[in-house]
Amino acid sequence: MKSDIQIAQASEMKEITEIAAQLGLSEDDLKLFGKYKAKVNLDVLKRLPEKEDSKLVLVTAITPTRAGEGKTTTTVGLGQALNRIGKNAVIALREPSLGPTMGIKGGAAGGGYSQVVPMEDINLHFTGDIHAIGVAHNLLSAVIDNHIKQGNELNIDPTRVTFKRALDMNDRALRNTVVGLGGTINGQPREDGFLITVASEVMAILCLANDLMELKEKLGKIVVAYTYEGKSITAHDLKVEGAMTALLKDAIKPNLVQTLENTPAFIHGGPFANIAHGCNSVMATKLAMKLADITITEAGFGADLGAEKFYNIKSRYADLNPDATVIVATIRALKMHGGVDIDNLKEENLSALKKGMANLEKHIENVAKFGVPAVVAINRFPDDTEAEIELIKKECHKLGVKTALSEVWSKGGEGGEELANKLLDILENEKSQFKFLYQTDSPIKEKIETIAREIYGAEGVEYSDKALNQIDKYREEGYSDLPICMAKTSSSISDNPALKGRPTGFKISINEINLSAGAGFLVVMTGPVLTMPGLPKRPSSEDIDIDADGKITGLF
Ligand code: ADP
Ligand code: MG
Repeated sequence: MKSDIQIAQASEMKEITEIAAQLGLSEDDLKLFGKYKAKVNLDVLKRLPEKEDSKLVLVTAITPTRAGEGKTTTTVGLGQALNRIGKNAVIALREPSLGPTMGIKGGAAGGGYSQVVPMEDINLHFTGDIHAIGVAHNLLSAVIDNHIKQGNELNIDPTRVTFKRALDMNDRALRNTVVGLGGTINGQPREDGFLITVASEVMAILCLANDLMELKEKLGKIVVAYTYEGKSITAHDLKVEGAMTALLKDAIKPNLVQTLENTPAFIHGGPFANIAHGCNSVMATKLAMKLADITITEAGFGADLGAEKFYNIKSRYADLNPDATVIVATIRALKMHGGVDIDNLKEENLSALKKGMANLEKHIENVAKFGVPAVVAINRFPDDTEAEIELIKKECHKLGVKTALSEVWSKGGEGGEELANKLLDILENEKSQFKFLYQTDSPIKEKIETIAREIYGAEGVEYSDKALNQIDKYREEGYSDLPICMAKTSSSISDNPALKGRPTGFKISINEINLSAGAGFLVVMTGPVLTMPGLPKRPSSEDIDIDADGKITGLF
């Protein structure tokens, strides 16, 4: 079996102008980055207001194993399959961060015969968006410390600067730092730290803005620090949102690339799926929806996190009406939920599979709560047996949900035709009754409890004193009408990673609640969340190499 990079390097890409032409875009609409990558000018959206929006399909998944269950692979493969059967489908994905690329996770560009290309570029720097976001972020950091140094007119308490610096690398040594050392000329010493750039609120904002002016407005609302009196200080108070937006003038434009089968793909924005909402940009999604008949997009982690935030946060801010959901399930992960040890997932185990179905069942019920019709994509792995595939189909039939066997990883678009046809059947015959799970003007606690009970199946919620005080403070400051962004383990539907399947009889514990006033949500922390990951003992950087001809190897 060839590796992902070998498959990608053997593919025949079309020039990106040709892919754009397929979507009705001319070279004037593009900012080209060589032959195979382009940014699309935002004027295109303004030009097409009357054109009807495409159907919108979300790809989500069951509670994953650490390796991921194939949402990106399925999204890409489904896009290829729809185009194979004559539909005009476009894909909208997130951009990979360099931290995980050099660490452990592997690519974020799909896998096998369902990938986006040029994969080396997409995984390494791409069109520079994440760098631009890091620079805009760090401009704000520099301005904060400079303000304190230059007389501190706003009366910022240096021990209460909440806005850390950013860098797009897994670098644990920078989690906690001290800045301003070296005497008066170097500023006021204070404790600081770094986030990985994809965890920056600037990233979340770029992904939730509907246009350039909204981007600026949202950047201005970032709360960066508190005064000695406890009053919040925003980026706008420091008069910096204009310059930050100027730095992002190109980063806000969606990037166009293609799949191995030349299906158009927008890859734009990549916020963390825990402390942020984990979806690609609104601008790219909306652009795809103007240019295609069907738009397929992905949200990070399982449906308890990704789909919930896609519906309650992204769809709310972008005024989207999702038409269908694909729930990716793998036999290996379901066996894990049925109690099988992670090292034995390759062996056939029908009883564990049947038991593990409880996890899929809960996610199916959850998606239905949003009124969006769903199909289960069984992402076939090489070791899956016929008996296991039969069993999962039979169990899904009992649950009344459509299923399709998806072989897009091994066969590309051809392996996704069954899924494509089931999806088309839904889009043509089942009307989505999309609704939010909560109203934003409900009290903060009520919103959190709705998610905990309805989506996680919890019996209730326990708050730390800190969280309770924060809720009061946000209410007083006028931040209580924001949607909720849950930061929770992705390894369980509960907040305890050890609880597999469909946990019951548990309560969700809330440690603290952070404000992302610019992005427009309250981040509810159910446990410690690393905003700066570390590298593993043997990082992927040991495998990645380049030869004299510039050919890259070892990138998955
Ligand atoms: P997610 O988006 O859900 O995190 P990905 O699509 O990125 O998942 O897939 C995770 C990893 O699993 C990738 O390395 C991908 O190549 C691999 N993978 C996905 N589907 C299959 C499959 N059917 N068989 C083998 N490997 C797969
Ligand atoms: Mg993915």
